[in-house]
Amino acid sequence: MTMQFDLRQLGRQKGGSLRDEHVDRSFQPSEFEASIGQDEEYKVAAPVHLVMDVHKDGEAYRVTGRVTTRLQLECGRCLDPFEIAVDNPFELRYVPEPAAAAEGEEREVSEDDLTTAYYKEDSLDLGELMHEQFVLALPMKPLCSERCKGLCVHCGTNFNKETCACAPSWTDPRLAVLEGLKTKLIKKET
Ligand SMILES: [Zn+2]
Ligand SMILES: [Zn+2]
Repeated sequence: MTMQFDLRQLGRQKGGSLRDEHVDRSFQPSEFEASIGQDEEYKVAAPVHLVMDVHKDGEAYRVTGRVTTRLQLECGRCLDPFEIAVDNPFELRYVPEPAAAAEGEEREVSEDDLTTAYYKEDSLDLGELMHEQFVLALPMKPLCSERCKGLCVHCGTNFNKETCACAPSWTDPRLAVLEGLKTKLIKKET
């Protein structure tokens, strides 16, 4: 199963004039397993719905649409999995991939680059498109809840679910100094 959109099918209908192509596709989470790296920060947790219009504009293609799904993330504090809803509208401009020779050259980075993507071999990589939208939807700090209490640094107990018998992790720094002196004295005596 490939996640490519063949640009050559654009305008096949009705000969002559190129009409916008309306795309409406669904992908199962399993279809992303191969394309998403093991160390990706998210898992696709529900079918992905992609709707978009592809408009040919000379050499370029303007693509506007929306991607919706649910992603599973790991909480940064308690490490439990949790889900977020994704409903991302996007507007992208696809231009032909620059020739290999030009790749090493410095390119001026304009604001526009955020929404510029490349196509090659007459197809749009929908897998990449959706991956980029997912990454944009990820929170800066993934938390299962703003009030997540995290884990005990000593025994790993999840404080959202239970408590543990470990001492509070904060000790008075002045006490710590005394503790240090005490152990030194004990060492001298022995
Ligand atoms: Zn959490
Ligand atoms: Zn503990």
